[in-house]
Amino acid sequence: MKMQMVGQKMLIGGEWIGRENKIEVRNPQDNRLIDTVPAASKEDMLYTIESARQGAEISANLATHERMRILNKAASLILDRSESFARTIALEGSKTIREARKEVKRCAETLKLSAEEARRIHGETIPFDQTAGNEQRVGYYYRFPVGVVAAITPFNDPLNLVAHKVGPAIASGNAIIVKPATLTPLSAIELAKVFVEAGLPKKVLSVITGKGSEIGDTLIESKDVRMISFTGGLETGEDIAKKAGIKKIAMELGSNSPTIILNDANLEQAVDATVSGAFSAAGQNCIGVQRVYIEEGIYDHFIGQFVERTKQYKVGDKLSENTDVGPMIAEKEAIRVEQWVEEAVRYGANIVAGGKRDGAFYEPTVLTNVPEECRLAREEIFGPVVLLYPVRSLNEAIERSNQVNYGLQAGIFTTAIDQAFAAIQQLGVGGIMINDSSDFRIDAMPFGGIKGSGLGREGVKYSIEEMTEPKVVCFKLNSSQ
Ligand code: NAP
Repeated sequence: MKMQMVGQKMLIGGEWIGRENKIEVRNPQDNRLIDTVPAASKEDMLYTIESARQGAEISANLATHERMRILNKAASLILDRSESFARTIALEGSKTIREARKEVKRCAETLKLSAEEARRIHGETIPFDQTAGNEQRVGYYYRFPVGVVAAITPFNDPLNLVAHKVGPAIASGNAIIVKPATLTPLSAIELAKVFVEAGLPKKVLSVITGKGSEIGDTLIESKDVRMISFTGGLETGEDIAKKAGIKKIAMELGSNSPTIILNDANLEQAVDATVSGAFSAAGQNCIGVQRVYIEEGIYDHFIGQFVERTKQYKVGDKLSENTDVGPMIAEKEAIRVEQWVEEAVRYGANIVAGGKRDGAFYEPTVLTNVPEECRLAREEIFGPVVLLYPVRSLNEAIERSNQVNYGLQAGIFTTAIDQAFAAIQQLGVGGIMINDSSDFRIDAMPFGGIKGSGLGREGVKYSIEEMTEPKVVCFKLNSSQ
């Protein structure tokens, strides 16, 4: 399956612009060159911000029905070309072709949802007469767009996570500058082409390609950028938060999500969901299952089934229809995972499945007895590795689940309603899945975490709230009437 290499351009201020300086986009599976994108300079970024400032005025003046038309048209163009989009995702990233197809469907859904939510951006009347002396006042608030939104996105969902920022920004009348991950910029460029074709006015959307470490500060520190919507790692997120100054920030960061399996769980369901949650996208998934706490009564049985299921996963060519797990995004990431596993083994952990690396490929790997002081137990692995722990009780599982600096999502398998409620109330996360693993999301739900997992929520309606500000209007009536 080949893509024609054309030398892509970036979309700045409504024009497609190339640069002498280029970034090579390579297939992580075999390091083959797929295409190139321009390496933008700081001057390019300043120009992009200036044109987005003009774009913000244009966007704010677009009628709601026109925003809806453009978003729906973009969604239908994506569905028309879904296989081509899936191939781009699968070639530049590390998803298998089957995983990539799911992402394309979700992207169209995200844009359709954005179109729907555009008609529901409204305020409320305010009963000003609730405080004495204000009986002659009436009014309301409505929501207005922040202006220019900067979207900085990661490699692991190179299309839908861009759509999660672009869709709500257009729906709410903002201009948006997308700085996609340097390893996977092609999906974002394809998305921009679709918006141009759908009739989005120039300057409302820009996609600028270049290294975050080189052009990021210019974007983040600009006073003309009124919101940063970032999805990526904790370290980058902290760096951005320090530099951003007075502007809105929304942070969708990582996690090392727990899933709890109690003695009364449906084991077959629990095994299927946790294995798939641990290894989808080769474990490069912010809500991927990293830690599984299993009640002692079923621990041995669970491990047996978990390992058997893991060994059925086929690792290989991500473009083959039969592959379950593709490569990691880069060989250096697979080496990092290998080193973290080796460290855990030195501390006394046991590898019960997997544990081998071949270039950028790392086998689905299951570990037991991983001591809490290992990086694997505390940090986000972002690779196909899962840790299994026996626990004496739900309380112990909750306490250990919470003992990390992350809190994105968690799962619990139980048929006892009181146990489920205890977990709902006590787990420190932004979302909890009952009878499913942490790895469940739909694009319309509020999505985000606490602690090192982030700030604010995505999920179209909630992103729109973050991308707008309330403006209060108060009429003081003439009291003689
Ligand atoms: P990353 O290294 O933090 O990069 C994310 C984005 O930030 C990229 O576009 C990157 O650009 C840019 N960037 C890097 N340094 C920058 C700087 N100094 N200034 C401005 N931008 C900068 O993350 P990643 O490796 O791509 O993605 C993996 C992480 O994302 C994981 O931690 C994962 O959990 C998290 N994630 C979270 C969610 C969620 O919704 N909560 C979803 C998906 C992924 P370059 O590529 O040019 O370096």
